[in-house]
Amino acid sequence: MPKRDYYDILGVSRSATPEELKKAYRKLALKYHPDRNPDNPDAEQRFKEASEAYEVLSNSEKRSIYDRFGHEGLSGHGAGPGFASVDDIFSSFGDIFSDFFGFSSGRGRGRRRGRVGDDIRYDLTLTLSEAAFGTQKQIVIQRKHVCETCGGSGAKPGTAPQTCRQCRGTGEMIQSQGIFSIRTTCPYCRGAGQVILDKCPTCRGTGTVRKPRSVSVSVPKGVDEGLQLRLTGEGEPGTLGAPPGDLYVVLHVEPHDVFVREQNDLHCTVPLTFAQAALGTQVEVPLLEEGQHEVLTIPRGTQSGERFIIRNKGVPYLRGSGRGDIVVHAQVVTPTNLTRKQEELLRAMAEEGGEKVAEKSVLRDIFHKIKS
Ligand SMILES: [Zn+2]
Ligand SMILES: [Zn+2]
Repeated sequence: MPKRDYYDILGVSRSATPEELKKAYRKLALKYHPDRNPDNPDAEQRFKEASEAYEVLSNSEKRSIYDRFGHEGLSGHGAGPGFASVDDIFSSFGDIFSDFFGFSSGRGRGRRRGRVGDDIRYDLTLTLSEAAFGTQKQIVIQRKHVCETCGGSGAKPGTAPQTCRQCRGTGEMIQSQGIFSIRTTCPYCRGAGQVILDKCPTCRGTGTVRKPRSVSVSVPKGVDEGLQLRLTGEGEPGTLGAPPGDLYVVLHVEPHDVFVREQNDLHCTVPLTFAQAALGTQVEVPLLEEGQHEVLTIPRGTQSGERFIIRNKGVPYLRGSGRGDIVVHAQVVTPTNLTRKQEELLRAMAEEGGEKVAEKSVLRDIFHKIKS
């Protein structure tokens, strides 16, 4: 792709004065500053392009070479290929940004170091199926943004932060005690090296404003209560161009109507009548997959508390393939409120089996029966 003309990039005439160049570049740099355009490669490209154009045209020697020979003339003069990365721009233009924004936007380099942005925590509640199979969630977080009124400096437009008099802009205090000197963060400017006298009305001097931001969260399969997903760089922005913090999405799982989860296994209880347990039956066990079920055969003579395993239908493993099991616990439900007819039949059945069912059970007889 042919390189664009540097004057066109900055939108100035070929006879622009250094002041006009600076003004034009300032406008573009503010507009396409990476802190204002996170994850926007187009803005980053324009930021680089404008920076390169300004780097050349603001240098009278390079500018005269460019005016006579164009881009070709500059190769070999140490300026041609432009900036490899945005960080390069900050390291060569630290002082210019200092003029523009009232502070050095050094991205962690330069005299004053910025602070990495804070992390943000967001609690996200999932259904058991979502936790098991994974999901895509759109969440809205209230995140700090660089204040557009003051460009993040915190100073009222038209004013600039003043160098802190207490530390003379170094951000630290040095106390001498004999041969030792102790460095501490300056308490007046909290290490920033600058103090804001006229605060920006929009952000009240903080340099940031809170705005809702929609973030897409990919929840992988097999997650469980308390697991945290880290979204790098989605936290609060850093100060003075330092990188942003991270967003931690803390996962919670709603209780399920049917299943109790234990690691990757799902436990459920199937109630059986005495007749079903004694004679055997088939029950439909619902699965985590919406609307699906598995037919489970309950054999004759099933006891209360017996367990049946449905293999590989539990919660998928977070790492690797495969799933846990569904564990079905049989629970024989003793009938209550028998009709007269039912009671007669039950007594008849007991007698048929040689059981003695008296109006009052005699414990001795029952123990005797168990022993034999
Ligand atoms: Zn502001
Ligand atoms: Zn200070």
